[in-house]
Amino acid sequence: MLPVEFVQRMKSRLGEQYALFENALTQASPVSVRLNPRKQGSAITGQPVGWAEMGRYLNERPIFTLDPALHAGAYYVQEASSMFIEQAIRQHVPQTPVTALDLCAAPGGKSTHLVSLLHPDSLLVSNEVIRSRASILAENIAKWGYPNVVVTQNDPAEVGGLLGLFDVVVVDAPCSGEGLFRKDAEAASEWSEANVALCALRQRRILTDVWPALKAEGLLIYCTCTYSDEENEQVLKWLREEKDVEFCRIELGTAPGVEEVLVDGARGYRFYPHRVKGEGFFLSVMRKKSTQEKLYVRPRKSEAIAPAGIRSQIANWMRNPERLTINQLKDLLIAVPGGWSAEVELIINHLHVVTRGTALATLKHEKLIPEHAWALSTELNQDAFEVIELDETAALAYLRKDALHVESPTRGFALVTYRQLPLGWINRLGNRTNNLYPANWRIRMK
Ligand code: SAM
Repeated sequence: MLPVEFVQRMKSRLGEQYALFENALTQASPVSVRLNPRKQGSAITGQPVGWAEMGRYLNERPIFTLDPALHAGAYYVQEASSMFIEQAIRQHVPQTPVTALDLCAAPGGKSTHLVSLLHPDSLLVSNEVIRSRASILAENIAKWGYPNVVVTQNDPAEVGGLLGLFDVVVVDAPCSGEGLFRKDAEAASEWSEANVALCALRQRRILTDVWPALKAEGLLIYCTCTYSDEENEQVLKWLREEKDVEFCRIELGTAPGVEEVLVDGARGYRFYPHRVKGEGFFLSVMRKKSTQEKLYVRPRKSEAIAPAGIRSQIANWMRNPERLTINQLKDLLIAVPGGWSAEVELIINHLHVVTRGTALATLKHEKLIPEHAWALSTELNQDAFEVIELDETAALAYLRKDALHVESPTRGFALVTYRQLPLGWINRLGNRTNNLYPANWRIRMK
């Protein structure tokens, strides 16, 4: 059931096309995923999504939870329209190392996509203000396995304090969710004009707060999953009046059904479900023209670097040890992206960091106990470990954290894989095997 005022708004916006729009909402939502370019091996196949190289439409919706490859980070389940951010990045961000911020990042769709598209030596700060959502974000980032992400949990005003740190800022704003009515009946039941107005105010506040963190000449990518003028065009017009921005054009060759919106010098791109195979979505790219008044101060180098002995002991766990710096926090060893130590230190000093880089190991009585995140890292050197391949039934038992017996003549830690995709660690103790899958990540579906 669509809210009456929403129907009126859409009729006046779409005119004759309204019937097509309403009809599209009665159809099943397309199912799509985005493959991880660094983790191949899942059984997923499907038609490509035109505007996203690794995007695939599936013919039907499988029970994703029961596919171990999902938990290995081989793909991310994501609505196709929102993969359009790929065109913003490909067409406007150079393939050189950049600093990027995803401000409203949970559960991690845009962040996992961004980190796969940016130059591999870039740094991505993936932030989510709501604590419970920030831990889901950290879990999804760990599964995706890229080494160059810092997950933070802060209010946009706090993130805005990182003056001029970022070349790219993505604001995938909390919105009234009109574009998701087909997928999510609750979004329709919660819709009201008052809520649209509230969201519009909040979007301006978020943009105002984060603005100082964007470098002069940096790119702001603003997107929503709603159609309303107040949350899209009006926000862009307000940005144009309040801040000095230049709107960037996106070539639509890969996404011919997308509507280009031009109002009073502002430019954006709108997805409708009757014109594009995906849900409702809106995106705009802007360049910051105003000069940066102040810049962040680069802190002293990190004091948390692990001693040389430990670094050499653990070097062969990594595929590219020269590209990572090993930090030691009490007993925990963490691999952080090498060239960004000072920036990571700055972020640690200013924000609430949930994870930085990838946890490698815990030191216990001079021994290295591998951390779960390292099993999922795309920087893991598998040759340093014994690897045990599991079939689907055993892989699901492992992911449920059930007792697992693995025949193996040796003792100690081993990496378990499914379709050669690492899932995590086990510890073989002779007559039994410890399943080291994190308890709070385990799957509960039978
Ligand atoms: N970018 C995410 C993705 O692609 O998976 C989806 C983000 S969702 C559209 C918007 C996010 O903004 C939510 O995770 C929500 O918790 C967060 N949020 C809610 N209120 C906020 C606020 N006042 N400031 C910043 N973020 C907020």
